Amino acid sequence: NKWVYAFGAGYSEGEAGMRELLGGKGANLAEMATLGLPVPPGFTLTTQVCTAFYENKRQFPADLNEQVETALAKLEATAGKVLGDPANPLLVSVRSGGRASMPGMMDTVLNLGLNDETAAGLAELSGDRRFAYDSYRRFIQMYSDVVLGVDHAIFEDILDGFKDENDYSLDTDLSADDWEQIVSRYKTAAATALGRPFPTDPREQLWGAIGAVFMSWMTERAKTYRRLHDIPASWGTAVNVQAMVFGNMGETSATGVAFTRDPSTGDSGYYGEFLVNAQGEDVVAGIRTPQCLTEAMRERMGDHSPSMEAAMPESYAELSAAFDKLERHYRDMQDIEFTVERGRLWMLQTRTGKRTAKAALRIATDMAQEGLITEEEAVMRIDPSHLDQLLHPTLDPKAERDVLTTGLPASPGAATGRVVFDSDEAEERAKAGEKVILVRIETSPEDIHGMHAAEGIVTARGGMTSHAAVVARGMGRPCVSGAGQIKIDYAKKLFMVGRRTVHDGEMVTIDGSNGQVLYGEAKMIKPELTGEFAILMGWADKTRRMKVRANAETPQDCQTAVEFGAEGIGLCRTEHMFFDADRIAAVREMILSNDQDGRVTALDKILPMQRDDFAQIFRIMGELPCTIRLLDPPLHEFLPHTEEDVMDVATATGLPAEQLMARARDLAESNPMLGHRGCRLGITFPEIYEMQARAIFEAQIAVEKETGFQPLAEVMIPLVATVAELSILKARVAGVAQAVAEETGAKPKYLIGTMIELPRACLMSGEIAKDAEFFSFGTNDLTQTTFGLSRDDAGKFLGDYLEAGILEKDPFVTIDRDGVGDLVRIAVERGRATRPELKLGICGEHGGDPASIDFCEDVGLDYVSCSPYRVPIARLAAAQANL
Ligand code: ADP
Ligand code: MG
Ligand code: MG
Repeated sequence: NKWVYAFGAGYSEGEAGMRELLGGKGANLAEMATLGLPVPPGFTLTTQVCTAFYENKRQFPADLNEQVETALAKLEATAGKVLGDPANPLLVSVRSGGRASMPGMMDTVLNLGLNDETAAGLAELSGDRRFAYDSYRRFIQMYSDVVLGVDHAIFEDILDGFKDENDYSLDTDLSADDWEQIVSRYKTAAATALGRPFPTDPREQLWGAIGAVFMSWMTERAKTYRRLHDIPASWGTAVNVQAMVFGNMGETSATGVAFTRDPSTGDSGYYGEFLVNAQGEDVVAGIRTPQCLTEAMRERMGDHSPSMEAAMPESYAELSAAFDKLERHYRDMQDIEFTVERGRLWMLQTRTGKRTAKAALRIATDMAQEGLITEEEAVMRIDPSHLDQLLHPTLDPKAERDVLTTGLPASPGAATGRVVFDSDEAEERAKAGEKVILVRIETSPEDIHGMHAAEGIVTARGGMTSHAAVVARGMGRPCVSGAGQIKIDYAKKLFMVGRRTVHDGEMVTIDGSNGQVLYGEAKMIKPELTGEFAILMGWADKTRRMKVRANAETPQDCQTAVEFGAEGIGLCRTEHMFFDADRIAAVREMILSNDQDGRVTALDKILPMQRDDFAQIFRIMGELPCTIRLLDPPLHEFLPHTEEDVMDVATATGLPAEQLMARARDLAESNPMLGHRGCRLGITFPEIYEMQARAIFEAQIAVEKETGFQPLAEVMIPLVATVAELSILKARVAGVAQAVAEETGAKPKYLIGTMIELPRACLMSGEIAKDAEFFSFGTNDLTQTTFGLSRDDAGKFLGDYLEAGILEKDPFVTIDRDGVGDLVRIAVERGRATRPELKLGICGEHGGDPASIDFCEDVGLDYVSCSPYRVPIARLAAAQANL
């Protein structure tokens, strides 16, 4: 088995297409070398080594050592240096990198191969002792921290102490001798913490680092990240060993990170940061404030330090040529890491850059218009769930703002929440339903869960490419980074900014689009869905086959749905209309009546209100189809809860409270979701459905008279298990339509169909289709009844199921294709066999989930229906499903 792939100018064994085997970083390093870009030589241990390691009781394959030695020899030959040779030492970096980039993984170790002898050799060879010992102390700290698990604070304390002793304030104040002294203190400290000497043998160092990368695949951090991002544990990580190049060799050296287009806005023009005389991690860690890459960016940010464009024009020119080459080659925006060593440019990484939804739209539409990609590719480029970011409110520009401070606009969007300083706490409080804003000095991979739970993130330190910024953009959380005026006191749970103090639990608002942190809540406005958004949605609409409707029942939701491009209502839940304050008493009166007369009296009170509800909806929806579901939930849910509720009904009806209570006890069910609900109510209390049907038809006629257009109602009977239920209720509804037509002299336009949400209904769908003019799959209940799993209780153990791999995904989020999906497929086939023109849709929560929408396309549904805010997501997902 080939475990190791070498790369370097002219001889890469891998290429970009091999990311499964080499990981993203390794595959792209190989590709860049092949493209003729300056890449330090190296080699990649494949993801299969990782898999073999875990399958074989954490032992490496027997022939791995030999393959590493061969690759190392080649690396040494190319670099012209030898690992551990004091006269001519090779230093390497050891870098993790799986198929998907994963912040939970081991940090990179730089400058590996140093010990007292090689450090002296490096000093000699470079003619720069300060550089050599600066690199050495970095190595001891990094290796101890990352590989040996020694707390890095120990080293920071030593350095701070040393600075105090000598009255230094900056790292740059330290001389070569100073660093040499630091190195010896570091070694002592590491040895004390470890109980053995710090490893000096470069090969031992190398295998230590390689082992640590593979071990980090199974850390809690990594597991959490994989769970949140749907990355299977079986993928494994690769390890890259690469010759070091040095950005810390003085003023002509530098290191930086850049994007080929702006990852926040998508604007064309390079975007990045760099640091002179520094090594890689310094940029991301936010220890020093980086400088801007380009002049344009420097002007925009009002920064005073020179840009790389101005300070290092030759390296910059070379770098920008590399950017163009990479963007044209990969045909997408790239996120690039580079280092300049004494004026010579080296490329250290390229990958498709993470971006905000706004930037994704801008980049995809720009690239299609530039001819770099096709319109269909542009449609495929946008992650539908990512659009969510754009569909939510932003801060009203006209609203008053109590600005506490302004940091960097690291990830756009606005968020309001209560201040929390700790990620675990953020997670707990969010679980309890609180909206929180996570405020940290800086974030690290250990904060991922807290960032995920928070509405937004603020950091006091770090640039636009800091951990917080990158992760927040990826998650779609608004983020303000580098708000340097904020002084955080974790112990006291507060932060100070100027003379103001904000405590844990106080409300703040952040605007990730301009970097503002505001005190209190601020007014938000609806998003504008124009520009690139409209262009791309236009391309998506051309591409899709399925229609997209919305689940909506209030006029406001209907309005939003239409604005977001819904082509009808897929589910109008009428029970919500029963709970409104002005009618709940009448509803209770109806339910608690002992006889039909009592019910009819109560229903007569509800009828005009319900008719008005429908009229409002029809006015907004015009001639678009509206699927209206007749009353569905168990009566149980309408029962009075408090004594006060009972007294209200008693007053309205004149019935004694005692009697009402007794009736309520009668109606209580032990398993309401499988009880007296859906069409079963229609069977026992036909007058309820008749009232609803009348309200619908009368509203249609009224709106038609008023506006001239003809509303289309699709009357939906829920929870049907047998064709007889449907036949009986259909006859009743049709009877009402007939009556309304006779009374008004106008014919309402309607279909009668059913919700398919029980396994029996799926199996009997051939029969049911004799009476149903449409099916709408209620996949929430269908999932519950197929799995025999209550959605409200599943939360307690579903996590364990996902962890153990019993289920791959939460079946209430993404449809279970194998089981529930098969029932849907059967129902589609049998239903269409009986009635070829049968209209088919889905109205469960799954209708807004891209993976489930893909399934709906596969089985040939006519439309999906989802919540109004997800309509654009569904439009895009439906287009992608059809490509
Ligand atoms: P991450 O996946 O966290 O970005 P990397 O493996 O890319 O980790 O390493 C982080 C940084 O370390 C790089 O951006 C680069 O600046 C620096 N680095 C890695 N390898 C080398 C190398 N061979 N020479 C110089 N710097 C390196
Ligand atoms: Mg990197
Ligand atoms: Mg249901």
